[in-house]
Amino acid sequence: MSRSAGSALVLGYDAVVDRAYAPVVPELLPAELAELRDRVDALAAEVLVRFRDRAQAGEDVAADVRSASKAAGIFPMTQPVDHGGTAAPALALVVVRDTLAGHDVGQLPGIFGPDPGLLAGVGEPLRSRFLVPLLAGEKRSGFGFTEPADARRHTYAVADGDELIVTGRKSYVTGGADADFINALVEVEGSGPAMVLIETSARGVRLERRFESIDGSHHAAFAFDEVRVPRAHVVGKPGRGTARAMGQINQVRLSIAANCVGLSRYVVAVVDDRLRSAGRSGELRGASERARLAYGDMRLRTYVARSALYRTARLVDAGANPINEVAAAKVFTTETIAAVVDAAIQLVGGEALVEGHPLESILRRVRVLRLAEGESDLLRTNIARGRLDLDAGRL
Ligand SMILES: Cc1cc2nc3c(=O)[nH]c(=O)nc-3n(C[C@H](O)[C@H](O)[C@H](O)COP(=O)(O)OP(=O)(O)OC[C@H]3O[C@@H](n4cnc5c(N)ncnc54)[C@H](O)[C@@H]3O)c2cc1C
Repeated sequence: MSRSAGSALVLGYDAVVDRAYAPVVPELLPAELAELRDRVDALAAEVLVRFRDRAQAGEDVAADVRSASKAAGIFPMTQPVDHGGTAAPALALVVVRDTLAGHDVGQLPGIFGPDPGLLAGVGEPLRSRFLVPLLAGEKRSGFGFTEPADARRHTYAVADGDELIVTGRKSYVTGGADADFINALVEVEGSGPAMVLIETSARGVRLERRFESIDGSHHAAFAFDEVRVPRAHVVGKPGRGTARAMGQINQVRLSIAANCVGLSRYVVAVVDDRLRSAGRSGELRGASERARLAYGDMRLRTYVARSALYRTARLVDAGANPINEVAAAKVFTTETIAAVVDAAIQLVGGEALVEGHPLESILRRVRVLRLAEGESDLLRTNIARGRLDLDAGRL
């Protein structure tokens, strides 16, 4: 190991972030992150795996997961410091999510405290009325970005004194039916796109449809019929709504990428076990050239995806504009887990498609990720635009 890599190993992650040559690969984490990884690994293997099995049997395990996560110091990592959280940097969160998903437990409810999302850093009156109850788990929010394909125009608002009058529709608000408010992208006439907090109890808000996607998550479609919203419910600067939404979307994209990398490692481990066992003929399954080809391909995809993930997290922490790299990591890692789990099911055979099998469950959970938070081909064209029109992006 080189001297520089060795010395970086004993530094905290804040120090490492400042160093251009600092190692960011999972094998050479600085001591503080290596300790975090080991702590999460123990939590996952010794506690959360049991909760996952109970959750699969239909039990509500959120309270147990929450207290185990709090005891391990993981719960507050997504919460701001002024609300009792530890506001972990991107790389630390990537380490945690990669490790949890490596045991197929990252999907459990209650591991992380509610994060501020779009409301990060808001002042009064939004802070007391919405941010504080959100962080305490007393209020729930939804994110309203996507609109129905047949919408005649984007959701818009006209100003009327101290109020905005919002009209339009949002089609795919995760958790929307249980949300107290929605942070919606609204085109405000005269000032441009803004993120506007709309209470679901407000007059004129109509829940049009509630539905479930194959991963088991719930969503809602809303119509806004001339909903009156205080101007003070504009989150951030008017006209900067898309930029504010992108900051939030970037964070979620990186967390999806970390989850997919961990899950890819989990699936590789399932196949690894399988290939070390004897097949019907009595011969080791891993002796087959065909199985080796598929297994080798899974490993190489997962290796490249994991490398890209850690590099991208470091760019985020370094304050570099990481939008293209986060998009690239999201596309690559979601496509990696899709290919890896599909190949794994093919190798394991029909039993992997029986309800309750871990591969069947992962297949359902990851399919949505190539659409949610940025559809893959759309992100590809965004990356191209980043370079060709905005001179941004790295290789
Ligand atoms: C599980 C899940 C959770 C979600 N949660 C939320 C949420 O909380 N809030 C929210 O706002 N949204 C949410 N979404 C919606 C998600 O963001 C959208 O599904 C995604 O942005 C794609 O939009 P779309 O479904 O309208 O498909 P489209 O944008 O219509 O894309 C469908 C296909 O058409 C192609 N296409 C699109 N435009 C063009 C074009 N101009 N030319 C050629 N081809 C094109 C795309 O490449 C793609 O292949 C969620 C989705 C899922 C699956």
